[in-house]
Amino acid sequence: MSTTQFDAIVIGGSYAGLSAALQLARAWRQVLVVGAGQRRNRFASESHGFLGRDSQMAAAIAQAGRADVAAYPNVQWIDGSALDARAEGEGFVVELDGAAPVQGRRLVLATGVRDELPPVAGLAERWGRSVFHCPYCHGYELQQGAIGIIASGEMAFHQAMLLPDWGKVTLFTDGRYAPDEEQRAAMEKRGVIAIDDTPILRIEDVATVVLADGRRLPHAGLFTYGRIHMSSPIAERLGCAFDDGPLGPFIRTDMGKQTTVPGVFAGGDATRAAGNVAIAVADGAMAGLGAHRSLVFG
Ligand code: FAD
Ligand code: MG
Repeated sequence: MSTTQFDAIVIGGSYAGLSAALQLARAWRQVLVVGAGQRRNRFASESHGFLGRDSQMAAAIAQAGRADVAAYPNVQWIDGSALDARAEGEGFVVELDGAAPVQGRRLVLATGVRDELPPVAGLAERWGRSVFHCPYCHGYELQQGAIGIIASGEMAFHQAMLLPDWGKVTLFTDGRYAPDEEQRAAMEKRGVIAIDDTPILRIEDVATVVLADGRRLPHAGLFTYGRIHMSSPIAERLGCAFDDGPLGPFIRTDMGKQTTVPGVFAGGDATRAAGNVAIAVADGAMAGLGAHRSLVFG
């Protein structure tokens, strides 16, 4: 067992975790960041919509954040996975993959989520390149071109109502979503050009939808909502409460980003139904402040 007791251990070294670590570092606290390096947006090269860094490389933004945090001598970093965490004494013990356990008085969970895409051949290979989920992130670049939505369930309605601001939208239901008459009328009124129930065979080229009846329909880009899963089981293992989002569960936090387990803070995509880099950075900052204040005030 390591004898070092960190003031805070941040699990997840991406946008939310880095932002939390930065606040704690600047409060002169001993901080450990454990990061497995699997950012949710690693499939996309550019990141859009983060003020001051719009359309820069997603990896470069994360690297710049890491350099900011690494500049503080009171921050340690472990590249790797946290396997488990439990409350012990006044704080927490975190089990690491391939390293001795570490102890922290507070935890910040910034472990993000992973996306489970609908089972359409050729979709996963194009994720982040010509297949997206967030129009605010990747809609503008499609330049009002043809947009296909690949339904994964009822939430396709939500995506179909949003996307007409970004281009000419066709919804492919592919047997996973059966809109009722009211929804069909709403989508038509909103400007969705077609709702196509023909089964999809596969996606080809940039974003060409190949249908079972032989049609090949090219698009500038495709959108789909995947099912969202926690990247790490640690919040559940610690007993944190979750809320149900439309695409999957997320960790419940209060205004100060504390979970329902005292001393455990969380931020970023793992704590909200929808997120982006700007929100993850804001959340992380709040979680970092929350963890620091709880070290002071209990
Ligand atoms: P993440 O960035 O997912 O980071 C979580 C980190 O925790 C990872 O490094 C992971 O390895 C680590 N981790 C998980 N479990 C453990 C563990 N047990 N131990 C140690 N480390 C662990 N947002 C935008 O603002 N603009 C965009 O253009 C944009 N494009 C996107 C494109 C795609 C294809 C996708 C899927 C998402 C995109 N997003 C975009 C959303 C953005 O990626 C997320 O909102 C953001 O990454 C959330 O940051 P986070 O720090 O909460 O989580
Ligand atoms: Mg990481």
